[in-house]
Amino acid sequence: MTYNLSKIRGKTAYTTREISELLKVNRKTILRWLKEGLLLLAPNKTPKLVMGYDLKAFIQAKRDSRRVKLNWNEFYCLKCKKAVLAKRGSEHTEKTGKNIGLENREQEIIYAKCKGCSTPVARFI
Ligand SMILES: [Zn+2]
Repeated sequence: MTYNLSKIRGKTAYTTREISELLKVNRKTILRWLKEGLLLLAPNKTPKLVMGYDLKAFIQAKRDSRRVKLNWNEFYCLKCKKAVLAKRGSEHTEKTGKNIGLENREQEIIYAKCKGCSTPVARFI
């Protein structure tokens, strides 16, 4: 997927609704991005706000991560900008609610924390 990053202004704080309208992604996807390491301006406040430059950096890093080959036990850390291992005991698996492939199997995602810097990382199974 390609998102039009030129619509995002760096020094503007966006709500998840604004991001979903701007980038034409559904809000479930944005909530998943938050679990994958997209930074919130103030983690404990509502509405959830994301700074434009954090959003751009996150999407850019997601793009870069696709060029990195990962082993089965590795994750791409957006902060370390490389393949990393998960912190022991930090991994948990969730279903995304989507079905994929010819067999129409349920898509799952593993959430974990980077062994090096504890930033949230995620990987589809
Ligand atoms: Zn890291």
